[in-house]
Amino acid sequence: MAPEQIRGADYLHLIPPISHVELRADPEAFLSHRFQPRECHHISTSGRSGRPKLVYHDPQSLLMNVSWSERHEQVLGHFTHRRIGRRLLTMNVEASVASHVHAYYRRRLRLLRRLGPRREWINVSAPFEQQVELLNRFQPELIISYGTFMGDFFAQIHRRGLHVHRPELISLGGEGILPEHRRLIEEDFGIPIVMTYQSGESLKIGFECEERRYYHLHEDLCHVRVLDEDGREVPDGEVGRVHITNLVNRATVLINYDQGDLGRLLPVERCPCGRNLRRLELVEGRRWPMLHTFDGRALHFVDAIEPLQREGWIDRAQVVVERPDLWRILFISTEGDRVPDWREQARARVAAVAGPGIAIELEPVERLELTDTGKFTPVLVRCPGHPPYV
Ligand SMILES: [Zn+2]
Repeated sequence: MAPEQIRGADYLHLIPPISHVELRADPEAFLSHRFQPRECHHISTSGRSGRPKLVYHDPQSLLMNVSWSERHEQVLGHFTHRRIGRRLLTMNVEASVASHVHAYYRRRLRLLRRLGPRREWINVSAPFEQQVELLNRFQPELIISYGTFMGDFFAQIHRRGLHVHRPELISLGGEGILPEHRRLIEEDFGIPIVMTYQSGESLKIGFECEERRYYHLHEDLCHVRVLDEDGREVPDGEVGRVHITNLVNRATVLINYDQGDLGRLLPVERCPCGRNLRRLELVEGRRWPMLHTFDGRALHFVDAIEPLQREGWIDRAQVVVERPDLWRILFISTEGDRVPDWREQARARVAAVAGPGIAIELEPVERLELTDTGKFTPVLVRCPGHPPYV
């Protein structure tokens, strides 16, 4: 096929979809010859598959990305009273895509920093009491975090009957939130939530508007197609796999990339908010359980497996919580142990993250384990209902 044959988005079906397996196996194959890896910003994502993937972003596209934040900012402004000097509490993991990108912006846009919000940051794996203390002391108007953690955090506040500061708005990205957790936060705590949809492969995909029911797509940054298992486009309103074409990143070029999410495009009609950007509903958000430690912390999957992935030759990993005091870390490695004693060192590092009272077992496996309903999840809890997994 010649480039001239592609004359617009309607021609994208001529190009075969790309799977995350292909991207992970050979990230350089998708890097434009106009860029050297050292000129790019590297974003490595773990994603739901538990396998790291490397995406190169050209610096200019990252900076352009900032200006499009204004779309989401408008929605935030609807719910929060002030923008300049707004108190913003970010709760995420150090290794998150958002943390990487924001660190990059902070370095490049130093002069603008004073106009931005007053920020505090806390890791999701910090002790629960410390997180609550910061929330109450800092009194943020806005919290930015992700669904699994925030749902868990407020469920714990609710269970313990604590009185905490209530922000005007919570903005969640990265993963979905359980419907019961969203209800708890929005109805019982009275805090509205807006979600954003993004990935390491295409930073901005969609954002919820004031209606807070579906995502409006950033159509000019990322083209979304919803395809069936055979790679054919499904009619509007029908569920399929979300495929993205990143329109701004000129380094790693992704066309028809399978994002790994199920969703449906809503019929074209005007949203009550007035925006005419197309709307997407995710059918099954990206969500998996948090890990709980005996000293009251909630750990994200990324934190638990980071000590393993640091070495770079682990293919996939999964945490199976057999009992609250026993975590089996399963991993697939095609290359075997490159460093003697690596396994013992990695086990000790995960044990240090998990804290006292939790035994860690590291198991090389051929296949990761599935839930009773046959689904894969990076964190598999086999002891639901046993404290602290309640
Ligand atoms: Zn809308």
